[in-house]
Amino acid sequence: MRFIDEVKIEVRAGNGGKGATSFRREKYIPKGGPNGGDGGRGGHVIFVASRDKNTLQELYLRKRLIAKNGESGKGSDCHGKNGDDIIIEVPIGTIVKDEDGHTLVDLAVAGSSYHLARGGEGGMGNARFATSTNRAPRYSQPGLEGEQGIRFLELKLMADVGLVGLPNAGKSTLLAHISNARPKIADYPFTTIKPMLGQVFMDDGDGFVVADIPGLIEGAHEGKGLGHRFLKHIERTAVLLHLVDAACEDGKPVPEQITEINGELEGYGETLVEKPRVLVFNKSDALLDAEREAIEAEVADSPYKVFFVSAVTGEGIKPLLWYIYDQVLQMRKRAIEEMRPTDYEE
Ligand code: GDP
Ligand code: MG
Repeated sequence: MRFIDEVKIEVRAGNGGKGATSFRREKYIPKGGPNGGDGGRGGHVIFVASRDKNTLQELYLRKRLIAKNGESGKGSDCHGKNGDDIIIEVPIGTIVKDEDGHTLVDLAVAGSSYHLARGGEGGMGNARFATSTNRAPRYSQPGLEGEQGIRFLELKLMADVGLVGLPNAGKSTLLAHISNARPKIADYPFTTIKPMLGQVFMDDGDGFVVADIPGLIEGAHEGKGLGHRFLKHIERTAVLLHLVDAACEDGKPVPEQITEINGELEGYGETLVEKPRVLVFNKSDALLDAEREAIEAEVADSPYKVFFVSAVTGEGIKPLLWYIYDQVLQMRKRAIEEMRPTDYEE
């Protein structure tokens, strides 16, 4: 299955049903009063953010969402039936934009919802128009038109931690080791073709979400390979975990691997460059002591915290996870503080 994170869609809410013009006709009651009921409301088109969805695939296939019209009102004060709403679950992090690319809503919280198109109100039946001077109105209203238009949907996955690194650094292996995700692992590049989310459970019962981003290659930010398209999925993370193949299986020396990824992150822009970052040297099981010491010397004055791990044996992973978790918790705390009104007092 392809990973779909951008979709153009047509939405059309239902029109309101028209109000009825009708009069009571019963035996022995001459001149019955007006009893035309109102038309039903047209169906809305509604999105709800859900943890159960990870891609916009379903919407990509459907292309249009057209809700039913409300039914017309009937005699005997019968209200027309409302058109059924179309309610669609979308992944958390779905952004809805209008035709000009302006953001209408960012569904960043589970359970939050948005009306993409509102159904038209039903027209009022003639029963509503009766007055003391006009007891037998012969008119009723038409229903209003439902909203419609083109919408652009964009998905920016919500993850706490973003995994970046060259193909074969061991990102998928690490994700499989630390989380419930089961990504494909192979010793050739680009086995990961879509961002993959994994939930990491910590001993305190809580945890965080890690996103594995498809292998970055040099020039990804200029559109080469698969990288850049997917970098947006780590825009919202608290920390970036930069994974380096310390065993240099692909023959690329460590400093080169690091500069390449740094270049891609810089090419993408400030949002990623300024994020807290951790340098993780993977495949430590395949390292000789001297090789490890050489790497340690090389990164001695790196501004980033450094870890050595083995995604295969699990060596060094616990301390790494606790360090990241701490960063994630700090970020969550800051986010809560930002939400608090400034005039808030204990
Ligand atoms: P990705 O492209 O970054 O997702 O890399 P993968 O997770 O697919 O791993 C690439 C290759 O490196 C696979 O053959 C893995 O088995 C191997 N690998 C990953 N982590 C380790 C590790 O800690 N030690 C060793 N020796 N090999 C590893
Ligand atoms: Mg992979």
